[in-house]
Amino acid sequence: MTRAWDQPAPELAPAPVPNAAGMGLEALRGLVAGLGESGFRAAQIFEGLYRHRWTRWEQFTSLSRDLRARLQERAGLSWPEIVDSAGSDDGSTKHAFRLEDGHVVEGVHMPYRDRTTLCLSSQVGCAMGCTFCATGLMGIKRNLGAGEIVGQVVTMLNAHGHAGNDPVNLVFMGMGEPLHNLDQVMAAFALLTDPRGLALSPRRITLSTSGLVSGIQRLAAHARRPRLALSLNATTDAYRDRIMPVNRAWNLAALRDALKAFPLEHGERITLEYVLLQGVTDSLEDGRRLAAFAAQFPSKVNLIPFNPHEGSGFEPPSEQRIGELMALLAAKGLTVSVRRSRGQDVAGACGQLARRQQR
Ligand code: SAH
Ligand code: SF4
Repeated sequence: MTRAWDQPAPELAPAPVPNAAGMGLEALRGLVAGLGESGFRAAQIFEGLYRHRWTRWEQFTSLSRDLRARLQERAGLSWPEIVDSAGSDDGSTKHAFRLEDGHVVEGVHMPYRDRTTLCLSSQVGCAMGCTFCATGLMGIKRNLGAGEIVGQVVTMLNAHGHAGNDPVNLVFMGMGEPLHNLDQVMAAFALLTDPRGLALSPRRITLSTSGLVSGIQRLAAHARRPRLALSLNATTDAYRDRIMPVNRAWNLAALRDALKAFPLEHGERITLEYVLLQGVTDSLEDGRRLAAFAAQFPSKVNLIPFNPHEGSGFEPPSEQRIGELMALLAAKGLTVSVRRSRGQDVAGACGQLARRQQR
C-alpha cells in the first residue's frame, strides 16, 4: 500500500516572474547575470534580503536606482504576508501567513526572558494524519518552499521589531511534517544559518518529526543540520498505531533503532515530545515505559498536555496526573519539562488559526 507520506507533496507552482525572496546566492547570481550585472550585486541583494530583512526593492539603496527599477520589473520580492494575528495573555502571538497562491499557514512568536522562539510551518496541511492534531485533519495541500519557510522568520522578526543580533530559537513545530519536505527545510536551514544573512545558530534550530524513519536517516547524513525532536506521544505500538498512522510503517522498535543510530554532537540530546491525552496516553504505566524508551539514547522529555480543539474527541490530562508523571520521570533521572501550549486562550491548538482562515 502506498501511503500519503511516500509521495512527495505538491510544490508551489512557479510564478510568472521569479521571486527573489528565498533565493540563495547562486540563484541571485543568475538573476543579476540576466540583467548584465556582476556577482557582487548578488551578494548585496543577499545581505539586503536576509541581514537587513528588507521587503521592498526601494529599500535596497546600496544598488543603483536604475538596477532597482530593473529588478522591480524582472523579479518579485514577496515574503509571506500576515493576514491575521492573535495575541495571547502569555505574550505569544500566533500569526496566519497568506502565501502567493492564497494558502494560509501559521507561525508563532514566543518571547521569553533571554530569547525569542519562533514556531514555523513546513507544509500547508500534513500527510501524516495524526488523529489528535488539527493540522492532520486538513490533509496535505503542498510543501512550503525554502523562501516561504525563511519568510515566516523574516516577517515575524520584522513585525516584532527585532534587532539583527537578538537571540532567536526556531522550532519546526507548526503545520506539516518537516521530514516530508526535507529538501526545502534544509535549503531554508542553510539560508537561516548563513553568517552573511540571518546568521542564526544551527544549535538553536529544532526540527520535530512524527517519526518518519527514512527522513531521520536522511537527516542523519547531513553534517550541518538542525537538532532533532521526536513526537513519541505513545508508549505501546497498539496505542501509537491508533493515534499516529506513521507507526504502522515504522513502529517503536524501528524508531528506537533510528534514534540510537542518529549521530549526536557532544552534549546534544534528542527531545522526546509526548502529548498527554487523558485516558489514552497518560497512565503511570505510560510514564514508566516512556522513561525506559528515553533511557536508550541521550534525551530530554517534553510533556505536552493536549490542547483541545473542536471535534477531536480527546481531552487534556488532569493537573494532578501531569504532576505525577513529571515526578515519575524526574525520579528516573530524566530531564523533563512541561510545554503549556502558548496562545491557547486566543488561537487554540496547532493548526487552528490557519483553519479559521480557510473557512
Ligand atoms: N509534524 C511534526 C511537527 C509539527 S507538530 C511532528 O508531529 O512532530 C508539533 C507538535 O505538536 C508535535 O509534538 C505534536 O504531537 C503536537 N501536537 C499536535 N496537535 C496537538 C494538540 N492538539 N495538542 C498538543 N500537542 C499537539
Ligand atoms: Fe502532521 Fe505533526 Fe500534526 Fe502529526 S502531529 S498530523 S505529523 S503536524
